[in-house]
Amino acid sequence: MAVTIGALAERAPGEKRVSLSPEVAEKFAAAGARVLLERSAGTSAQFPDALYKRVEWCDATPATLASLDVLLTVQPPTVEQIGALRSGAVVLGFMAPHARVREIALLRDRQITSFAMELVPRISRAQSMDALSSQAAIAGYKAVLIAANTLDRFLPMLTTAAGTIRPAQVLIIGVGVAGLQAIATAKRLGAVVEAYDVRSATREQVKSLGARFVETGVSAEGAGGYARELTDEEKQRQQDALDARIALADAVISTAAVPGRRAPRIITRAAVERMKAGAVIIDIAAESGGNCELTQAGETVLHQGVKIVGPVNLPAQLAFHASEMYARNLYNFLKPAIAKDGTLAIDWQDEVFERSCVTHAGAIRHEPTARLVEGT
Ligand code: NAD
Repeated sequence: MAVTIGALAERAPGEKRVSLSPEVAEKFAAAGARVLLERSAGTSAQFPDALYKRVEWCDATPATLASLDVLLTVQPPTVEQIGALRSGAVVLGFMAPHARVREIALLRDRQITSFAMELVPRISRAQSMDALSSQAAIAGYKAVLIAANTLDRFLPMLTTAAGTIRPAQVLIIGVGVAGLQAIATAKRLGAVVEAYDVRSATREQVKSLGARFVETGVSAEGAGGYARELTDEEKQRQQDALDARIALADAVISTAAVPGRRAPRIITRAAVERMKAGAVIIDIAAESGGNCELTQAGETVLHQGVKIVGPVNLPAQLAFHASEMYARNLYNFLKPAIAKDGTLAIDWQDEVFERSCVTHAGAIRHEPTARLVEGT
C-alpha cells in the first residue's frame, strides 16, 4: 500500500510555519505517496489551500491521525497527537528530545518511530536535509533586520547635504550558520562588521565575507567541528578582548551555542554597562538561556540606554521561506525511504536514519535521551 503522509496546522503559539509546502506535497505525490493536509495549514506561511494541487484535505481528528503512516511536523508532536497515532507510524520533525520527556516516553510506549530533524548528522550527504542550518540562516538574517529596526541610527555610511553619516559598527558573536548569514546581511546593509568565534576555522570565513575577525588569543576547537567548553582562564581572556569590542558596537548579534548545553554567557552586565546609549543586542541564543546575562527570552530589556532583544522562534517570522526550506529538508530526508511502489521502507543501515532516530519499536534509540527519560 502506498505510504500515507500527513501534515497538520501547527498548534504551538506563534508558530506560523507549516511542514508541507505545495512544492513538496507535489513531490511526495509524484513519488507515489498519498498526501493528507489539514485545511488552512499553510495559510499562516502564505501558502493558501488553492496552491496545494495534489493533496487530500483532512481535519485534525484522531481518526485522521490514526490513518497516517507518517506525520510531518515543525514543532514536536503533542501528547494528544501521539496518543492518536497508530503503533508503527512514523513522526518526523523537530522533537526537542531534551525538553519533551513526557512526549518521548509516550512515543516509546506507543511503539511509534520518531526522527528528530535536529539529530540529522552534519555529513556532506545530509546537507540537503539539514533543518538546523536552513532555519539558523533565517534567524541570522532576521536578527540583523531587527537590529536595524531597533537602532535609532543608519547602518550604512551616507553622504548627504546635511553632512556625512558614519556607518554603524556591528559585532557578530558566534560564526556558525546563523552568524555567517548575519555577517552577510549586515554587510549588505552597509554596516562595518566584525565577528568572533572560538573556532579558529571561522577566521577565514569571516574575512571572506569582508568582515574583520576579532582576535582574542583563545581557541576552542572541539570534536566534530563544534566548539568545546572553555577553561576559566580562557574565558577571562576571551571576555576582556571581547568586552573592548562590545563597548564600541552599535549592534551586537549574538548566536553562540554549544550543542546539548545552555548557551554560553558571553556578554556580562558590566559589558552592557560599557556600551553606548542607544546600542542594541539581539541575542538569538535567548531560547537556550541567552549569550547575554540580561537577556529575557521573548522580551526586550532596556538597561542603561541599551536595548537587549531576546527573540524566540525567529524562523517563524519569515514563515514562507522557512517553511519552503524546512519542507524540502523533510522531503530530502524521507524520499530515500519511499520505495518505487510508493511503500515505506526505512534502511536502518543508513546512518542518517539510524542517528536521527529517537524512538523505534518500543525503545529510545538516542542514548542521551534514553539517559534523560529512563535514567539509564
Ligand atoms: P551552533 O549553532 O552550534 O553554534 C553557533 C556558533 O557558536 C558556533 O560557530 C560555535 O563555534 C560558536 N560558539 C560556541 N561557543 C562560543 C563562545 N564561547 N564564544 C564564541 N562563539 C562560540 O553552530 P552551527 O551553526 O550549528 O554550526 C556548528 C558547526 O557545524 C560549524 O562548524 C559548521 O560549519 C558545521 N556545519 C556543518 C555542516 C555540514 O557539513 N553538513 C552543516 C552545518 C554546519
